[in-house]
Amino acid sequence: MGMDVYGNAPRSEAGAYFRNSVWGWHPLADFLLDTYPDLTATCEYWHSNDGDGLDDVRARALGEAIAADLASGKVAEYQKRYEVEQAALPDKECHLCQGTGVRTDEVGVKYGYNKPRDEATGTGGCNGCQGIGRVEAWEKNYPFDLENVTAFAQFLRECGGFAIC
Ligand SMILES: [Zn+2]
Repeated sequence: MGMDVYGNAPRSEAGAYFRNSVWGWHPLADFLLDTYPDLTATCEYWHSNDGDGLDDVRARALGEAIAADLASGKVAEYQKRYEVEQAALPDKECHLCQGTGVRTDEVGVKYGYNKPRDEATGTGGCNGCQGIGRVEAWEKNYPFDLENVTAFAQFLRECGGFAIC
């Protein structure tokens, strides 16, 4: 599953198509909405594949604004804050075993995950959390990547407007 962003009237190959996995796209879209509320406002559906987008004038203005912030180090500062916040996210209760470390549903019983974890043999215990009962926050799978921002800024300036599909 991913996000396909198509240029409406591309001026170069870089402006024809931009693709992200959902893990790359959502942090990028959040960054844009946080940082450039005025420039992003005419596109309502940044987080879904509804074909929403910006026209050429706004896409270009957004691309220029991002390029300036990349050059000044503002985007790198955002990335640092983002990573600090992510690292501070506490582990969550494992939903497969409700935090108990043993999995008593049908699948758990069938595969022997319903017994406490035996470290010596590596058997038993919930397969979602290795019997610990807690898992990393899923938000940690969504990295904020400077290269991705750079590539999108280039796309924006050359796409002639775009649609998120
Ligand atoms: Zn579990």
